[in-house]
Amino acid sequence: MIPVIQKNYTCTASGEVFKFVECENCRFKYVYRMKRTVRGEGTSFYLLDNAGAENRARSRAESELHNQLIHDCDPIPCLKCGWYQANMQAKIRSEYRLWIFWTGIGFLIAMVAFALMAYTESYGQKKLITEFFSASVACGFVGIAAILLRKLQAFRLHPNSTPAKDRIVIGKWNPQSLDDFENAQKIAASGPEQN
Ligand SMILES: [Zn+2]
Repeated sequence: MIPVIQKNYTCTASGEVFKFVECENCRFKYVYRMKRTVRGEGTSFYLLDNAGAENRARSRAESELHNQLIHDCDPIPCLKCGWYQANMQAKIRSEYRLWIFWTGIGFLIAMVAFALMAYTESYGQKKLITEFFSASVACGFVGIAAILLRKLQAFRLHPNSTPAKDRIVIGKWNPQSLDDFENAQKIAASGPEQN
C-alpha cells in the first residue's frame, strides 16, 4: 500500500457590501449592510505543489466570497411595512431547523454502517445479520422521514405571517432608507466641514 502524503491549505476571506432593496409590497427603498466570511481549501499531494495549493485556497475563498456578496441576502424585512422579500423568504426557509436535516443525514450514515456490518457478518458467524439489517432499515426510514419532515415544515413556513410591527422592529436593527443612505454618502464624500 502506497502512503498518501498531502498538505491542506485553508484561506479565509471576508467582505461586506451594501444591499439595495425595493420592497415588493410597498415599494419603499432601503439599504442594509451584509457581511460574509468564507473559507477556501487547497491540497498539495506529496508536497509537490504547495504554492499552487495555497493559491487555489485563496482564489476559491475569494471566488466564493464574491459569489455570496453578489447573490446572497440577509433576512432584513422592509423597515416601513415589515415585508420579507421573496429571496429573503427563501433564505429563511432554507435555513429553517437545519438540525433536523443533519440528524436525518446522521441516520442515513448509520444506515450505511449497519448495512456494511450486516454484509461483513454474512461472511462471518452470521448470528447478527437480521439485527444489523433491521437496524439499517430502521435508520434509513428515520433518516428519510427527518429530511422530509424538515422540508415540509420549511415549505409551510410563512415569514410574513407574524405581526408586521414585530418585523418592522427587526428591519430597523441595521438598514436605513435609501434617502438617508444617499444623504450619509454625500456627507461622507464632501469631507469634514471647513470653518
Ligand atoms: Zn415595504
